[in-house]
Amino acid sequence: MDRVCIQCDEPLYGRSDQRFCSAACRSHYHNQKREAENKTFYAHHKKLITNYRLLTKILSERPHVAVVKQLTDFGFKSKYITEICAQKPQEEPIYFLYDIGFRYLDQKHIEVFKRSARANSVDYSSK
Ligand SMILES: [Zn+2]
Repeated sequence: MDRVCIQCDEPLYGRSDQRFCSAACRSHYHNQKREAENKTFYAHHKKLITNYRLLTKILSERPHVAVVKQLTDFGFKSKYITEICAQKPQEEPIYFLYDIGFRYLDQKHIEVFKRSARANSVDYSSK
């Protein structure tokens, strides 16, 4: 009785390479493992979703300009983006969250826009 289920510590009587007493214990074990791994992704993803919703709201208004302070008060975190495009060294970079882009007009304001075909063609990696 030296071998036990790695999930529930019940003794194992099966094959020598058996690790679980049951299918339930096996799936419980793997679910827990996956949950721990996914926590990091979920936390990051939630911030991206919050940002995306806020930018989408600005796109529904006119002009598509937002005061950065107001956005951050609603939970916007500018470092949670999916892409940065620096078209020319002297130009302000364009930040993207999937299909929505934004750029700083000055330190306090951003302009928000839908990704255009032109912006899509920018090859950031060649710089
Ligand atoms: Zn078990």
